[in-house]
Amino acid sequence: CSWWKNVEPAAKDPILGVTEAFLADTSPNKVNVGVGAYRDDNGKPVVLNCVREAERRIAGNLNMEYLPMGGSVKMVEETLKLAYGENSELIKYGRIAAVQALSGTGACRVFADFQKRFQPDSQIYIPVPTWSNHHNIWRDAHVPQRTFHYYDPGTKGLDFASLMDDVKNAPDGSFFLLHACAHNPTGVDPTEDQWREISYQFKVKKHFAFFDMAYQGFASGDPERDAKAIRIFIEDGHLIGCAQSYAKNMGLYGQRVGCLSIVCEDELQAVAVKSQLQQIARPMYSNPPIHGALVVSIILTDPDLKSLWLEEVKGMADRIIGMRAALREKLEKMGSVISWEHMTNQVKKIGMFCYSGLTPEQVDRMTNEFHIYMTRNGRISSKLLKNRSKGTLHANKTSDAL
Ligand code: PLP
Repeated sequence: CSWWKNVEPAAKDPILGVTEAFLADTSPNKVNVGVGAYRDDNGKPVVLNCVREAERRIAGNLNMEYLPMGGSVKMVEETLKLAYGENSELIKYGRIAAVQALSGTGACRVFADFQKRFQPDSQIYIPVPTWSNHHNIWRDAHVPQRTFHYYDPGTKGLDFASLMDDVKNAPDGSFFLLHACAHNPTGVDPTEDQWREISYQFKVKKHFAFFDMAYQGFASGDPERDAKAIRIFIEDGHLIGCAQSYAKNMGLYGQRVGCLSIVCEDELQAVAVKSQLQQIARPMYSNPPIHGALVVSIILTDPDLKSLWLEEVKGMADRIIGMRAALREKLEKMGSVISWEHMTNQVKKIGMFCYSGLTPEQVDRMTNEFHIYMTRNGRISSKLLKNRSKGTLHANKTSDAL
């Protein structure tokens, strides 16, 4: 008897599929600019010095007990300060329900399940485009999805007018997914003034804002500045939700450390909401992993390690900006006839990713002829091409492909 005879292979994940194809390529010149992970000048993974130091302190001292269902209380406390501010009144008055989550993905997923359970008729408005996994997450939580305008391929910038129209036209009290900073995949963020307008309109429409903040610190180099959108919404009195991740800004990708928080009307409500978030986690994974959470809390509670972390985040953000400038310069030197201004325009392109503007067919050609891998939407990660094996690009061939 074949229980699984009707099981077809799942569709390939558009991002992870790129990595698979890259690994299978035997060309010595291959390069993968599709992966959403920071790399050093040799294309190798980076472990931050602050993380190494925290690990040294843990070594041999960590017991392997379960964390509570809500995760490490200290880690969550420090993580909330990063999003809401060191002196946040919301934190002070216990108005934020928060749990440790399995990185940003886990935070989004627990929120989506919470939304379904307690607002069963609601939908989620998702920007076009977005990180592809957002669609999977809310689909699996059975929350119907709608989209809102975000990116304008014409200007390679934000389609602010259409975004605002969509916000105005959505039914009152709709749920919106917003990228707090360093929008993935476009690298296009609203300006501060635009965030203020969005926040104002959300207030008028009584919408709920769920912020996915996977790149705090990667946009400007300063986590405090990158939390601006959230702070604006809080200033305006919104009760928001927020997913935080240490995958990128602490380089803890595989450790799966993150946090889900929901701002409540008062402490009593926060206690109830937190207990329900834990209830959602319990049958799913019971409790979150301990090691990464301890690394984070050691770093954030030690003033020296925290400043080292801030320096290292800034170092990564600055290097990314430098890579973009270098790529643009090279393309222009090679005589590319296309404008690459958007690549270095800091209003338009922020964070780890950048929409190159390449069409799917051009991406296919980059991959098939030149062994350069990226997702078919043309998203490139800004570690970029600098260290392609021999160090330089084949000028005429590559510019030809652009
Ligand atoms: N949200 C966005 C927008 C992302 O780009 C990512 C990772 O690529 C995540 C969430 C989740 O990452 P993780 O689950 O590794 O924290």
